[in-house]
Amino acid sequence: MNFLDLQGNERLKSALNSLESQNRMPHAIIINGGTIQSREKLATHLAMWAVCSNDTKPCGQCKNCINAKAKAHSDIYYAKGEGKTDSFSKDEIKSIIRDASIKPNQADRKVYILSECDRRFPPIPQNVLLKTLEEPPQDVLFILTCENSNILLSTIRSRATIFTLESKVEIDEEAMRLAKEIAQGIVAPSEIGLLKATYKFKDRETTHLVLSYVVALLRDGLCFSTGAKAITDEETAKLLCKKLTKAQYLKLIEITLTAQTRVMQNVSLSLIGTWLCGEYRRISWQR
Ligand SMILES: [Zn+2]
Repeated sequence: MNFLDLQGNERLKSALNSLESQNRMPHAIIINGGTIQSREKLATHLAMWAVCSNDTKPCGQCKNCINAKAKAHSDIYYAKGEGKTDSFSKDEIKSIIRDASIKPNQADRKVYILSECDRRFPPIPQNVLLKTLEEPPQDVLFILTCENSNILLSTIRSRATIFTLESKVEIDEEAMRLAKEIAQGIVAPSEIGLLKATYKFKDRETTHLVLSYVVALLRDGLCFSTGAKAITDEETAKLLCKKLTKAQYLKLIEITLTAQTRVMQNVSLSLIGTWLCGEYRRISWQR
């Protein structure tokens, strides 16, 4: 057996081991949590398991395994996405579904990998896939990877086996404190807190990190408002939920991502701070 090279994650490895030894492969798997690298590693491992031609899967030695590892297997499809956000469209999902009903070329199974679904898989195309997950074709494995699978439709989640990776990412406490100030400032009655917080933007790298924490806090709030557990900070999630609608959350996330892009360009940080403040207030106070 090709040992899955992931540090820690003992519970996940033992669950996977037991499925592999019984050769019980689910038809849909959601890889949740961890880092982008660990999600990719696990997705490749699962794809190898699905296509391996030896009895003890994945062997890591057969042609199917080698091609799967090199991401060059004709029965493994990586959803591409389109547009500025690389999102999976309804059409792409429909073409995946059509393709899934055709027999595999080399292996015994076909695999479809939809990576980083949190930001790339909108609800409408998810619904298109849902029907297929309800009555999956034979010999097909769908793998969806997410930083936080709570963002997926609960109907999708309930039809997949979820593997949760340990998140080993170290949180920069100071950057997180500032991110919380910003997130809480977005819904505060007065603008002062938010202005003071964005005034603290020092260097580009830290500001980029702070903004990615703001996105995490906003996503958390969005999930919390649908009844899921807050992962990053429950206190902030509760505060945000008192004021924000789903549409506002999405706009706030979008504007923060735009700011993050600008931070890495040659725009002055104080200008970005002021602009961001104005946008946050405009979005959170519009009705
Ligand atoms: Zn193999």
